[in-house]
Amino acid sequence: MARYTDPVCRLCRQAGEKLFLKGDRCYSPKCAVERRRRAPGMLVARRRRGSEWGTRLREKQKMRNTYGVLERQFHRYFEEALRTPGVTGQMLAQLMERRLDNVVYRLNFAQSRRQARQLVTHGHFTVNGHKVDIASFIVKAGDALAWKATSKQKEFAKALTDGIPGRPVPTWLRLDTENLKGEVVSLPESGQLEVRIDTRLIVEHYAR
Ligand code: SF4
Repeated sequence: MARYTDPVCRLCRQAGEKLFLKGDRCYSPKCAVERRRRAPGMLVARRRRGSEWGTRLREKQKMRNTYGVLERQFHRYFEEALRTPGVTGQMLAQLMERRLDNVVYRLNFAQSRRQARQLVTHGHFTVNGHKVDIASFIVKAGDALAWKATSKQKEFAKALTDGIPGRPVPTWLRLDTENLKGEVVSLPESGQLEVRIDTRLIVEHYAR
């Protein structure tokens, strides 16, 4: 599967804000956004003021890069959100948050969504007792997520879950720190995203 392989800090600098793509480093003074707020590239200083189209495009890229999905896949999410009854922007945010790799990250079982995706594709998690190794698997309310029994004993898993919980766990998820399990209590709201994203601009971008 194709994926973005350039330095991820560039994506934050392009967005002009933290997208939290690198785990602990994002919370340290080493963060590239903290050190250099300007966007990457030599001609940035001469860049013209953004158009409305550019603003909407940047918001779409911000969401896409935050969740680490490619354009075609992101467009499919948008079409699904469009078909779902409710406010399209909110449905889109909900779909992105419900991805299994995001849930693993939000439960603090991984330091970044990228790492969470790798853990999921390597088959270290179960949903409702069944192994699921598809990062884009969409969880639903009531789903129970857990480390696979054999994976939980491995050194890397112990290192990752040592000191859990680290980041605050959103209220739509419940974390059982003792058994290293999680539960989807309810469906997420767009206001519960880690990065502030104006989904209205994304809807306008695709409606143009
Ligand atoms: Fe890099 Fe994380 Fe800072 Fe983004 S938030 S620039 S990924 S360290």
